[in-house]
Amino acid sequence: MDLGIPVVRPTTDMSTRPDTPHLVDRFGRIARDLRVSLIDKCNLRCTYCMPAEGLPWLKRSELLDTGEMIRLIRIAVEELGVTNVRFTGGEPLLRQDLVDIISATSELPSKPKTSLTTNGINLGRYADALKRGGLNRVNVSLDTLDRDTFRELTRRDRFSDVLEGLEAAKAAGLEPVKVNTVLMRGLNGHEACDLLRYCVEHDYQLRFIEQMPLDPQHGWDRGQMITAEEILEMLGAEFDLTPHTAERGSAPAERWLVDGGPATVGVIGSVTRPFCATCDRTRLTADGQLRSCLFSTTETDLRGPMRAGAGDEEIMRLWQETMWAKKAGHGMDTEGFAQPSRPMSAIGG
Ligand code: SAM
Ligand code: SF4
Repeated sequence: MDLGIPVVRPTTDMSTRPDTPHLVDRFGRIARDLRVSLIDKCNLRCTYCMPAEGLPWLKRSELLDTGEMIRLIRIAVEELGVTNVRFTGGEPLLRQDLVDIISATSELPSKPKTSLTTNGINLGRYADALKRGGLNRVNVSLDTLDRDTFRELTRRDRFSDVLEGLEAAKAAGLEPVKVNTVLMRGLNGHEACDLLRYCVEHDYQLRFIEQMPLDPQHGWDRGQMITAEEILEMLGAEFDLTPHTAERGSAPAERWLVDGGPATVGVIGSVTRPFCATCDRTRLTADGQLRSCLFSTTETDLRGPMRAGAGDEEIMRLWQETMWAKKAGHGMDTEGFAQPSRPMSAIGG
């Protein structure tokens, strides 16, 4: 698929880079968290993520195969200091070799923490196999508790499959089970308290995510977005929220204890409360492109060099260069901000 993305080698001066294999950047951050998008396809069509007709999917030959994926994850973990690997997509449970990739990752000598972000539809079927494969945790995306709203929002009638998936994840011990929610005005915007009540009752950790400008339809409107502040205000009307005192570190979510705890709720204010200064992420797309940020407008091709016979040293150098060139922030509030041409589903959320 031609996404019109300039594939470039960063030109940033490397002479001042500290002599370390780790993925350091010019702002003192170290990338320890790798997000791997395993596939761009999905079995839902969430309105904030994809158009109804889907997208021009990557060809099979463009996707990294099992061995290529595992090789790059191994280099990241064993050579470049990555300690956490999150699998995402598209819908990662559509990838046939998911359990193989997760098992290979879990068996790496450095034992990285592994997690999976999924819409939950096929979790009922795969939760046990994923647990046996060594997966630590799941994040399940659920934006509504109303079947009709779910159908409108995802353009598919799969609400009960997601609830079953959540139950299966908990039963399999993929805990803590986290739930990701994007609220949208006029659709599910009034469900913040219902969703929190539901998650507290079922022992899921809920996190609200501000809607970001990553939809290929370019329908995002900052004025319409439900902000972190609004979400907290809505929740505050029914729950007693106290700041969670645990060290936030590089975690994007600000967390609160719900009614004194132990239940918690998180709010990820990517737009209004950016956490770029502590970002520790590096991203690999399903077609083998490296990105230093969700909002990067450039990528570094690893697939081409890898298929041309590049050794581990060469891959490491490309990865280190890409991260050294990482920008200070996503720049959403700066003049000339451009939405990345690759949509969220093809970057890996
Ligand atoms: N299909 C899986 C899922 O839905 O969890 C994994 C990929 S999805 C792109 C990852 C996460 O990104 C989901 O929680 C989804 O709600 C979120 N997401 C997608 N588009 C978004 C947007 N424009 N703004 C904020 N979050 C978004
Ligand atoms: Fe699919 Fe996830 Fe995007 Fe929804 S948010 S369309 S489930 S990739």
